[in-house]
Amino acid sequence: MAQYVFAEGIKYLKGVGPARADALAQVGIKTCRDLLHFYPRRHLDHTNVSRVIDLKTEGETVTIIGTVVATKVISGRHRERFEVDVHDDWGGRLKLVWFKGFRWIRRFFVEGYRIAFTGDVSSKYGGRWTMVHPDFDRLDESGPRLSTARIISLYPGSARLQAVGLSSRTFRNIIYQLIKKRGLEFPQVLPEWVQEEYDLLDGRIALRAIHFPKSHDELRKAKRRLKFEELFFLQLMLRQIKKMRVKRKGIRLEVQGSRYSQFIDQVLPFELTEDQKKALHEIKRDMQSGHPMYRMLQGDVGCGKTVVAVAALSLVVDSEFQGAFMAPTEVLAEQQFASLQGYLEPIGIRVCLLVGGQRKRLREQILQEIASGSVDIVVGTHAVFQEQVKFKNLALAVIDEQHRFGVEQRATLFAKGNNPHMLLMTATPIPRSLALTVYGDLGITTIRELPKGRKRVITKLFRDKYRSEMEKLVLQQLSEGRQAYIVYPQVEESESSDLKNAEAGYRAWQQLCSGHSVGLVHGKMKSSDKEAVMAQFKSGETQVLVATTVIEVGVDSPNATVMVIEHAERFGLSQLHQLRGRVGRGKHQSYCVLMADWRQSIESRERLNVILRTTDGFEISEADLKLRGAGDFFGTRQSGMPELRIADISEDMPILEQAQEAVRRIWEQDHDLIRPEYQVMRTYFETFVLARMEGYARTG
Ligand code: ADP
Ligand code: MG
Repeated sequence: MAQYVFAEGIKYLKGVGPARADALAQVGIKTCRDLLHFYPRRHLDHTNVSRVIDLKTEGETVTIIGTVVATKVISGRHRERFEVDVHDDWGGRLKLVWFKGFRWIRRFFVEGYRIAFTGDVSSKYGGRWTMVHPDFDRLDESGPRLSTARIISLYPGSARLQAVGLSSRTFRNIIYQLIKKRGLEFPQVLPEWVQEEYDLLDGRIALRAIHFPKSHDELRKAKRRLKFEELFFLQLMLRQIKKMRVKRKGIRLEVQGSRYSQFIDQVLPFELTEDQKKALHEIKRDMQSGHPMYRMLQGDVGCGKTVVAVAALSLVVDSEFQGAFMAPTEVLAEQQFASLQGYLEPIGIRVCLLVGGQRKRLREQILQEIASGSVDIVVGTHAVFQEQVKFKNLALAVIDEQHRFGVEQRATLFAKGNNPHMLLMTATPIPRSLALTVYGDLGITTIRELPKGRKRVITKLFRDKYRSEMEKLVLQQLSEGRQAYIVYPQVEESESSDLKNAEAGYRAWQQLCSGHSVGLVHGKMKSSDKEAVMAQFKSGETQVLVATTVIEVGVDSPNATVMVIEHAERFGLSQLHQLRGRVGRGKHQSYCVLMADWRQSIESRERLNVILRTTDGFEISEADLKLRGAGDFFGTRQSGMPELRIADISEDMPILEQAQEAVRRIWEQDHDLIRPEYQVMRTYFETFVLARMEGYARTG
């Protein structure tokens, strides 16, 4: 069938060959379709190339074309750097600087080479315009299309691709050949009426135009078409998943039980908030529906998701089934185990802990208890996914901090029961656009309300110069009987960076606050040691906890009121938000102090501004999505977030809505897609899209 030109391998394309085919496979390009969907990272237009003499503003992002005149490696005080002098065609001089990775980069900068580069300009180095770590492409001296075409496509590069000569220029050649020879065989994957109705550029033209645009207008239309197509098939896939999910039979649970009522009425020392009640209501409704629940419970750090999950687990035990509670790290699993035990053992529910590194005898005993049903609730880490772990009758799996787990892992857990209910929890709220894309219409419950009496955390930003202000604040809080976290981006001193580190910080804080004791916890410690340090902090034995981001999620010590984050400019938004969420958990006013060099980059300044401006997790995650783009938002792989190659849902919401509508219309007409006019679309969908659906289908 003609459309299988898309499925053909690329090895035999002109200009590819075995070595390049291998390198391409490494970046996920195996078929002709993959190659055509390897969209340019950007387009270079000779009309928007800047001249050095016109540069005015520091921090401005510009593209410049120039000739290499000299290169040198300079050994600086702390580390080496690689410098390249370039002259542009108007006599302007510019310096490019690399601090790392230059062993590979050096070979592209040979005297006389012409290079196009894009980056932020600064004048930090001796008043001359400089770009640090710019994006770049070597322009061929005489390639006819390059010097004549108005718009040139530039492709994502990597060391591996470059090593086998896969530069933008080569990509252009290979793709050009493919389109020229086989372009007329490319299938029309969208039905004609969709193309017309939504005013989309023809599919074949779009594929040519994204790589070889004749004008900006054509390029814009090509992008819109391809974004639409991508989102369209994603929506179609989500529909398909839902169709499969509702067909499944789930465990119907009793929603009134003695343990549940005891938990709510006697064990819980507080009244649930309205939002917590609403969440429980929705969960109960799902768990007695006869279909497996697949629900996301999202809410800011500290809003009390754990309690809701525990209540749901108590219900499961009331119906004489087992439950699991998954945590992403051992520190966290330990903590949750302790708190679940505290809640559940008094009402006769047996809870066990399963983590890696437990002694063999103990582990075997635990496995046996899980299999026989003599424990009700298993709290654990990734260790629970292992094959040897067999439940007697798992009915509910709770996955805390769900974005830390992969789709495959959810699937593994799901397979340990007979269509168990799944409750995914996250403190990184999902912007609506993402939620629609990733989860279709998976049930989402949101807790917005914080428990009564919480005070908003006060956030401050200090530069290193004002370090003593921060120290004063910490000491003040300690003297009032409170506790503090001090977080560092790395554990120990390292040759390659000047960052402050936890080990040095630990010594410094011991000096600083004599009279208080200081603990140190980081990822390189044995887990039993970590636990001991955490327990000491929680019990108040130590007042200051120096740490790395191992404490990022879940750690709960209501008496801690200060969170100091060193080198805050190094952390991502959701990390900062999570870290800040470790304080403000009790009745005392809490503080988050960001120690940062905010002049580092525009991007880190923007991140810090967001954190200073708001404590609302939803606002932060929207901002994060905007700043980082959807691809990086969760880390695609981990979350099962489908990889989008061209659409960017932080800005393509309108296109997403149209694609959604088109899919809905098709679905309403013919959800088996059997009409003849849908045949090409269906074959394409089944061959290229459904194949990726496995992971989803199994989890929900
Ligand atoms: P999350 O997991 O959503 O970050 P937790 O479940 O760890 O939040 O709860 C944070 C803190 O708030 C815990 O100490 C918990 O005991 C407390 N808490 C939870 N719900 C309430 C409530 N309704 N009223 C008062 N305190 C609550
Ligand atoms: Mg939590």
